[in-house]
Amino acid sequence: LFAGPIAFLKSAPTIEFLPDAVVPEVAFAGRSNVGKSSLLNALTGRNSLARTSNTPGRTQELNFFDVGNPLAFRLVDMPGYGFAKAPKDMVKKWRFMVNDFLRGRDVLKRALVLIDARHGIKDVDRDILEMLDKAAVSYRMVITKADKIKASELAEVTQATADEARKRPAAHPEILVTSSETGLGIPELRAAVIEAVTS
Ligand code: GDP
Repeated sequence: LFAGPIAFLKSAPTIEFLPDAVVPEVAFAGRSNVGKSSLLNALTGRNSLARTSNTPGRTQELNFFDVGNPLAFRLVDMPGYGFAKAPKDMVKKWRFMVNDFLRGRDVLKRALVLIDARHGIKDVDRDILEMLDKAAVSYRMVITKADKIKASELAEVTQATADEARKRPAAHPEILVTSSETGLGIPELRAAVIEAVTS
């Protein structure tokens, strides 16, 4: 499916603008700069599908991508979070929109929550993990930028992430370890997406 057509569908600045819920969806979430755009591009094998952007103004939108012709499923690029300088009302708006989306989107099969290998799970991540748990949206954590740290450190952060996943009701116990730079874990990520939308 990832070898076939993949196309940007639309951006939804609020949930009134969501596309009709017609096929299964998998959403990608993570702090700004976690490597979400790079991972979406690596996943789909498109160099510039997801635009890299670190400007807070563009972080409020949900971006939808159609996969397959005929349409098989959608990827949802969720707005990044954790901007140090984000104004309070923007954070509030983000929480409202994300909560509405997570609670009301019955075609949402799974969320993938990206965790930077260098940082591990932070409180800003726990915020969305809790939202996912409360909305009962199944999710899986994906470590990004694995190439940036030593193998021993990677083993440690993966273990710590798995330990936390096991304590969380909606979390998949197994962690995906990836690098958009080296391609590590990309086939496994593709398989995880396909599994989520077909099961
Ligand atoms: P986003 O804000 O979450 O969409 O993050 P981006 O995809 O824009 O990546 C943020 C920065 O991290 C960019 O400078 C990327 O080149 C870099 N980056 C992303 N993924 C990787 C990776 O797997 N390995 C390395 N070394 N750098 C990465």
